[in-house]
Amino acid sequence: MGLIVPKKRTEDVIQIAGAGPAGLAAAITLAHGGRQVIVHETQAQVGHRFGADLQGLENWSTEQDVLDMLRGLGLTTDFAAPPFERGTGFDAWGKRYDIVGKKPLFYMVERGPGPRTLDTALLEQARALGVEVRFNSRLDHVEGDAVLATGPKTADAIAVGYHFESDWDDGFWIIYDDNIAPKGYAYLLIMNGCGTVKSCMFTGFKQERQYVQRTVEAFQDLVGLEMKNPRPHGGAGNFRIPGRAISGAHLVVGEQAGFQDFLWGFGMRFAMVSGVLAARSLLEGESYDELWRRELGPQLWNGQINRAIYAALGNRGYRWFLNRNQTRRWDAHRFLHGLYQPWPLKRLLLPWARRRQRLRRKDASCDHLDCHCVWCRHGDHPVAVGLEEYGQRS
Ligand SMILES: Cc1cc2nc3c(=O)[nH]c(=O)nc-3n(C[C@H](O)[C@H](O)[C@H](O)COP(=O)(O)OP(=O)(O)OC[C@H]3O[C@@H](n4cnc5c(N)ncnc54)[C@H](O)[C@@H]3O)c2cc1C
Repeated sequence: MGLIVPKKRTEDVIQIAGAGPAGLAAAITLAHGGRQVIVHETQAQVGHRFGADLQGLENWSTEQDVLDMLRGLGLTTDFAAPPFERGTGFDAWGKRYDIVGKKPLFYMVERGPGPRTLDTALLEQARALGVEVRFNSRLDHVEGDAVLATGPKTADAIAVGYHFESDWDDGFWIIYDDNIAPKGYAYLLIMNGCGTVKSCMFTGFKQERQYVQRTVEAFQDLVGLEMKNPRPHGGAGNFRIPGRAISGAHLVVGEQAGFQDFLWGFGMRFAMVSGVLAARSLLEGESYDELWRRELGPQLWNGQINRAIYAALGNRGYRWFLNRNQTRRWDAHRFLHGLYQPWPLKRLLLPWARRRQRLRRKDASCDHLDCHCVWCRHGDHPVAVGLEEYGQRS
């Protein structure tokens, strides 16, 4: 039996630290349940660490469409979210592969404080329900019921590159090449005249500038990328399966808890679902740890296994994978859906995947001198120091 969170009197105010998707999803659910909520946000606006970043709301992990799922959870979908069924992949040898799904693979969304962004839509829904959102308000200590939704604690992956303007049609392009995005992928997204190009790397952070440069050059060679008004941008991602997602008496949600897709870093769904689960726990008295373990646990351990397999593949493995699926006239949506299902037999690989993750965190290349290494937790330097010059780290 896990901890049972007792029902509180409805006049108790619930404090939430962080106005990201996790914190706002929790606030909206609590307000729907008739509770008084105050959200504290350190920054002066929502989505500060993302600027006008473009991100994919993945649509393959569940049978149900992700926008229907959000509506079912009581969350707004009143943000710009064009569906993407097709795009282009490249292997390390520059060979091109069509990525085509019979259903939308993802919905592209804009992050940050702009007019039709995911963050603004959630903020407006929360406020319409009577939630008080206090900007420039850092919550460091709180008594009583609280939800901690403060984003990543440390960096297990970084995505670094540029935002820019473009007159290209909307689209997405991905390169699987450890020489430009070690153990990750490089991506180019365009929506409504805006673009982002990034190297999403899971190791080799010390060489991040080199990888970013190679990413930009690769997209220039492969698709003729042109960036108008490029602005550096980058951020970190945190992946963990926590023992418990409760700190003191407070419920921990989103990336602060480590909830994220281990394989490729799709964290928005985990953030919003965990926010809703934490709120339900406060409303209904069910143990939050039991709720997230039941609803998110299988996706988390499956993601950890996917990550270990992917990291072991290397460039030849990525190519084999792309080739194999291409020749079978694959439906990319179906393929990804299968990959994200926690088949019981797959669980046998979990001890191996955990060991791989532990080993990855011991960065053998770190000499601790002028250390920008975010794997090792030896120092008290800020996470991902090297990213600060990219301007958007909070
Ligand atoms: C470059 C990049 C690209 C990404 N692309 C994708 C993608 O394509 N698809 C996808 O699904 N996911 C993507 N992600 C991951 C996704 O953005 C995150 O998983 C998600 O935003 C996590 O939401 P959150 O609410 O937990 O944290 P955050 O969005 O980080 O929000 C936390 C908030 O808490 C505030 N805060 C921090 N400390 C305090 C405090 N003490 N008091 C008050 N407020 C505080 C912060 O200012 C911040 O606004 C990407 C991440 C990065 C960095």
